[in-house]
Amino acid sequence: MIKLHDKFFKPFISAEEIDEAVRKIAMDIADELQDEVPVFVGILNGSFMFTSDFVKVYPKPCEVTFVKLASYEGVKSSEDIQRLIGLTQDLTGRTVVILEDIIDSGSTLAEVHRIFENEKVKKLIIATLFYKPEAYKRDFKLHYVGIEIPNKFIVGYGLDYDGLGRDIPEVYQILTTQHMTNLVLFGPPGAGKGTQANFLKEKYNLVHISTGDVFRYNIKNETALGMLAKSYMDKGELVPDQVTIDMLNAEVEKNTDANGFIFDGFPRTNAQAKALDELMASKDSSINAMIALEVDDDVLVNRLLERGKTSGRPDDSNESIIRNRIKEYYDKTAVLKVYYSSQDKYYGVDGIGSIEDITERLCKVIDGL
Ligand code: AMP
Repeated sequence: MIKLHDKFFKPFISAEEIDEAVRKIAMDIADELQDEVPVFVGILNGSFMFTSDFVKVYPKPCEVTFVKLASYEGVKSSEDIQRLIGLTQDLTGRTVVILEDIIDSGSTLAEVHRIFENEKVKKLIIATLFYKPEAYKRDFKLHYVGIEIPNKFIVGYGLDYDGLGRDIPEVYQILTTQHMTNLVLFGPPGAGKGTQANFLKEKYNLVHISTGDVFRYNIKNETALGMLAKSYMDKGELVPDQVTIDMLNAEVEKNTDANGFIFDGFPRTNAQAKALDELMASKDSSINAMIALEVDDDVLVNRLLERGKTSGRPDDSNESIIRNRIKEYYDKTAVLKVYYSSQDKYYGVDGIGSIEDITERLCKVIDGL
């Protein structure tokens, strides 16, 4: 990932892929033009790198020149009105190949066509390295297209973000979600995840999602999801993965502007962990850390029985259900330590002590990320 000014960008198209696309356009044009000597016209500033690499691999004699787009001064409009400057050469009767770095809305191309209409060229060919079909609003034919890309902002290989990034040999794409902090709060039932999440969400301005809480909310409101979940929760068993994953996805989607999330009680299985990685990747983000509260079983059982006196949770009031929840944790959930350790994201924290002490231990980990 790179940062230019205030924005983050991720790698998108490698130098090798670009090289391949440039070579292909060059060979295809050479095939079409055979022994005719074309004039390649690069549109500055963006196409300087493309034009340079292109003419180096063009296998036959050619001429190369540049024109620059300049905004009309004092004109304010939603679509930039621009004109081409620097066209000094007589192009009468010549085959001209426009080399564009990128075509999105097509407004530059419209200007190119307008200017070249008066030039009495023999033929005007348009070649672009990158093309955003979703953004293109014109009818001009694009004779050669290197790589089609989605309608997202890119930088590198001649393209800039407010002046920066033109020099990068690869292409980077803007992150749709700008830099979130996403934490998985981990540990057996009764470890104190919910209590700690309440402090951490305030301190780091994160959205706290507890799958247990969402299920209980659904049970209280007697939704279909609640009724389904209740049958598992009452026995201390895990709710099936797909049900839980769909619910979690929906909760994340409700918070599109979040700075990040604290996941509490999720993931609880390998399948859930994979689904969470995919969900985060779809937001151009990732899980930064799994922070585990480590607490002995006997302490857990006592804590949960104690909590059961006031929490009103049926699964807190019966020792055998509590023991089943802990067993489910060791059978299905504890393996996630391996999952996150292999990504270097596992942080164990001693979960015994005062609430404040434990919060402090957690903050130390988060501040060090
Ligand atoms: P908790 O509030 O995290 O202790 O969760 C209470 C109960 O909700 C669990 O014992 C499960 O039955 C169910 N539950 C919560 N989160 C999940 C999850 N990620 N996967 C499956 N079941 C869950």
